Amino acid sequence: MTNTKRSDCPDTVRVRFAPSPTGYLHVGGARTALFDWLYARHCNGVFILRIEDTDRKRYVPDSVQDIMDGLRWLGLDWDEGPDVGGEFGPYVQSERLDLYRQWAHWLVEQGKAYKCFCTPEELEQMRKEQQARGEPTRYDRRCRWLNPDEVAAREAEGRAYVIRFKTPLEGKVVAHDLLRGDVEVDVSTLDDFVLLKSDGFPTYHLAVVVDDHFMRISHVLRGEEWIPSLPRHALLYEAFGWEMPVHCHLPVILDPSGKGKMSKRRAEKSGLPILVRDFRERGYLPEAMFNWLARIGWSMPGDVEIFSREEAIAHFDLKDINPTPAAAPYSKLEWLNGHYIRHLPPDDMFERLIPFLSRDLGIPEDVLRNDDRLRRLIPVIQERIKLLSEASALVDFLYKEMLEYEPEMLIAKKLDAAGTLEALRAARDLIATVPFEAEALEQALRQKAADMGLKAGQMFSPIRVAISGKKVAPPLFDMILALGKEETLRRLDDAIARLEKLVASSA
Ligand code: GLU
Repeated sequence: MTNTKRSDCPDTVRVRFAPSPTGYLHVGGARTALFDWLYARHCNGVFILRIEDTDRKRYVPDSVQDIMDGLRWLGLDWDEGPDVGGEFGPYVQSERLDLYRQWAHWLVEQGKAYKCFCTPEELEQMRKEQQARGEPTRYDRRCRWLNPDEVAAREAEGRAYVIRFKTPLEGKVVAHDLLRGDVEVDVSTLDDFVLLKSDGFPTYHLAVVVDDHFMRISHVLRGEEWIPSLPRHALLYEAFGWEMPVHCHLPVILDPSGKGKMSKRRAEKSGLPILVRDFRERGYLPEAMFNWLARIGWSMPGDVEIFSREEAIAHFDLKDINPTPAAAPYSKLEWLNGHYIRHLPPDDMFERLIPFLSRDLGIPEDVLRNDDRLRRLIPVIQERIKLLSEASALVDFLYKEMLEYEPEMLIAKKLDAAGTLEALRAARDLIATVPFEAEALEQALRQKAADMGLKAGQMFSPIRVAISGKKVAPPLFDMILALGKEETLRRLDDAIARLEKLVASSA
């Protein structure tokens, strides 16, 4: 990577991906992380991973690991983060509680926030009364007007409190989004939102502003669903007297029909993967995923569809993101995956297939890795699959002691069992005697078929079933060579025996 600054970049670029560990990494999160990463790499900046784990109720223990595994699989390495450290850590919010408390109390001291002693029961009562009056339900600010003695008295009683922000009572808040321009709201639509909860944990609003400031974030990239939070954040930056980073909200990802937001439920209903781990298990390559995700809301100059990571880094710029909600083009993903599979060096392909084959065929990885028959089939497989998980069905014939198929499957088109048996016996004799290499075998078998008044296909199709147990399988001679002469003959003998039984029983 070059160290010279690109002309379209600001002096400092520090971006963060700030997932909440409330679930596994999904398409939306991965796309945000990818754009963060691309922008950091484009501008020679810093990409930070920050874990926002302040919502203890929704915490999913293994999700941090899943998020990190998913990012690493996609090749999105971070420069600062929980496991790699960095100057501005810790990078896990639950390890930064003192900082949030300190700054929440600072706002109270400045008269910009206040302690609210209302109990959950009181809040519930308030909500009910507001509903009964047909009013919007929100905190009515009653504790904002407590005098210092009243506050002191409640504290002396040891009553629990939250800290709420003193939202201005009138006026407008204007916050800027890089793609959408000014987002303006009337403060009357905002309430005195909570900054610090009674358990001492910050809310998202407080933690995100404090962290983005102290981690010196220059650009906040996050999903469009966070736009409603932006005015609150703008008020907080102003109250703290801190400069606000550039905010850029990425377009919502729609389902392939474009009708609604892509959600776990929608994905499950249509059988589409949405979690990064699902894509991975189905046999998508990280290269294809990277390429695919990059195009959800951004496009390469000239709308080029297939590009490398380096090309994406070279051209990526925030200003080229299209803020219009974008449908996830699932149909393109398989196509892209097929492309990347075909272009992998065979040894690399072999290595990537091993875990899938081992999983599906129940064969230890090192056994597969040392199987030359399998290795020689790789180019054949590469031409035929769009997902790594499709390979098992193409090579499982190698590992079957006994093939399972009905003898009727052997019977060739426009031939009966006796005719097929004759063709198969002839084929067996040839394969036993002709030099065991593709061209010689093919030529001899074609010639033999012609001599017997058969089409080549009538000769080949029973052989295919005899050695693979399937009608659709990799090219015949690739299979024969991969199996080797001895095993091929053994399977042919087995098929001949099955056919003989069939003929005898129908005689
Ligand atoms: N923790 C938030 C999330 O889970 C991050 C929002 C932000 O980036 O400010 O999406």
